Amino acid sequence: MDNNMTYCDECRKDVIYIEKEMVFRERLNGKKYTYKGIMAICPKCGSEVYVGEIMDSNMDAIYAEYRRKNSLIPLEKLLEIPKKYGIGKRPLSLLLGWGELTFTRYCEGYMPTKQYSDILQKIYDDPNYYYSILESKRDNLKSNISYEKSLRATNTVIKESMRPITKIDIVSEYVKTKCEDISPLALKKALYYIQGFCYAFNGEYIFPDNLEPCKEVGLSQSEKEVIDSVIKNLCCYSGIILKDFTRLEEPWLEAKKDLPDTEESDITISRESIGKYFVSVKEIFKMTGPSDIKVYARKMFRKIN
Ligand SMILES: [Zn+2]
Repeated sequence: MDNNMTYCDECRKDVIYIEKEMVFRERLNGKKYTYKGIMAICPKCGSEVYVGEIMDSNMDAIYAEYRRKNSLIPLEKLLEIPKKYGIGKRPLSLLLGWGELTFTRYCEGYMPTKQYSDILQKIYDDPNYYYSILESKRDNLKSNISYEKSLRATNTVIKESMRPITKIDIVSEYVKTKCEDISPLALKKALYYIQGFCYAFNGEYIFPDNLEPCKEVGLSQSEKEVIDSVIKNLCCYSGIILKDFTRLEEPWLEAKKDLPDTEESDITISRESIGKYFVSVKEIFKMTGPSDIKVYARKMFRKIN
């Protein structure tokens, strides 16, 4: 490093500059930042000399400090995202519904907004969150190849991550991403309807009885159809309204009847009673597919009003 030459304005000739570690104080967007950088000095006259690389590395240092102070995702992590999830920079921007070059510019060092930074940080930290975006927003991608490639990479990341992932985690993340703003109560009710209608339409429970880690992280097409219809037709109601719906339904009435003195929150509904009830709902309402869940939702809404 010390052998580098640069031009000294004072000495008016090329000199071999010296690097000196310094603490710099700079203002950025009205705030003061302190960061460690390097100053290049002419050994003959002692004045500061201009070295492109050093200026760049100082810039990187102050921006890193800016990111740290403002809780923005560090650049290294941001740069890792495309590789981690097997997705190109532009496809990632599109997937997130951003301008096509937004993420590319962030990779070049542009500061993300806090809101976008938080999304990227969450994507970096939580493969399930990324997965739920990939699934729910896949139509934003121009090619199916991008989707498939990223899905494979994401599957690998998820499988390697330590925490066992349950089907409830996957479905919950999917619902939360699609609904954007859903209360825990509404989510709980949505999962109940998903369990019931999946059984009615697909003949099998989407959630196993125990919280066993799932082997496949994906959702099948038939599962997604049910989930999407529950989101569309039932998640449009608040958790309170959905709770009123469930109070009129057989699984709740049955569980409550057996345990009249139990606290509400302690009542658990067996999946068999959920399955049985929704099979009968499907028959009574002559449902031919998951999109008919809307008929049931409307009926329940009229009932409680
Ligand atoms: Zn000099």
